[in-house]
Amino acid sequence: MKKGKLIVFSAPSGSGKTTIVRHLLGKEELDLEFSISAATREPRGEEKHGKDYYFMSTEEFKKHIKAEDFVEWEEVYRDNFYGTLKSEVERIWAKGKNVIFDIDVAGGLRIKKKFPEETLAVFVKPPSIDELKIRLKKRSTESDDKINMRIAKASVELATAPQFDTVIKNYDLDTAKEEAYNLVKDFIKK
Ligand code: 5GP
Repeated sequence: MKKGKLIVFSAPSGSGKTTIVRHLLGKEELDLEFSISAATREPRGEEKHGKDYYFMSTEEFKKHIKAEDFVEWEEVYRDNFYGTLKSEVERIWAKGKNVIFDIDVAGGLRIKKKFPEETLAVFVKPPSIDELKIRLKKRSTESDDKINMRIAKASVELATAPQFDTVIKNYDLDTAKEEAYNLVKDFIKK
């Protein structure tokens, strides 16, 4: 199978990385397909199994860990497991496409380590922790407890930014989208 490229977008939750990833997915010339992760949390809002995530029980997830089916996996939040299945990357590469990931910082760095040549690892930086709080509250799909958990994790994640190939500062969404587009376009040419 011909390997495509792996485009990783990692960031604290609420930094706007999902919006940027969706924007890039709309650009046909980039030949991108979204890597659907396995996750043990409950679907939020309009999320669908097999589109946003492969939702599964913790038991099923642990079976996949044991069978070494994951490229990477993390217990991103306590009792909430997320992971990239090897079959997902293979599915997308088999179509001759590049894979785009919206995953946490540790998972992103793990993919870069496993596939150093094929991967572009991008960190999306939010303007500030305060701004992150406002964005997460606006989204209002979660309890205050869960929001606080995400914010505590964000401070730790921000410190890993220098380990990525590039950092995009998401102070203005349109500028960040354009910057992301140009980075990916240049990388897939290589
Ligand atoms: P959410 O619950 O908001 O959808 O995702 C929580 C966090 O888990 C986000 O930072 C998201 O990017 C990350 N995530 C989603 N899928 C994966 C994955 O397959 N692996 C890892 N390591 N993190 C993931």
